[in-house]
Amino acid sequence: MKSKVKDKSKSNRQRSIDAAAHRAALEAAAQRRVRVNPALLGPNHSYGTPDFVVRGHYLDFPFACKDCGKQEVWSAHQQKWWYQSARGDLWTVAVRCRPCRRREQARVAQARAVQQSGSRAKNAK
Ligand SMILES: [Zn+2]
Repeated sequence: MKSKVKDKSKSNRQRSIDAAAHRAALEAAAQRRVRVNPALLGPNHSYGTPDFVVRGHYLDFPFACKDCGKQEVWSAHQQKWWYQSARGDLWTVAVRCRPCRRREQARVAQARAVQQSGSRAKNAK
């Protein structure tokens, strides 16, 4: 007996059902909106107002990773977290995929550690 999860041989009928489900999922994603709560946003250091604030809701944001070029989606929910919980800068957007972001954070942390140990050495003199 075949396992339901690992069975990759699908009938044509199953395939067309999958395509329909895929379309429905894409449409749902396009309509998925997360409301912006302006009271929770971090300070705006610019005279302008970001599009998502004017619009009043976050939308899934497709982008290509700056480092590896991979197509990624910065989801509406992730944006809400970034702007309202992490209080990220209102003018920053996702530019890297998750693995590249982690690599970049490690690189920055490493550079900072080197710089700090350097200034500690200087102060000790
Ligand atoms: Zn990447």
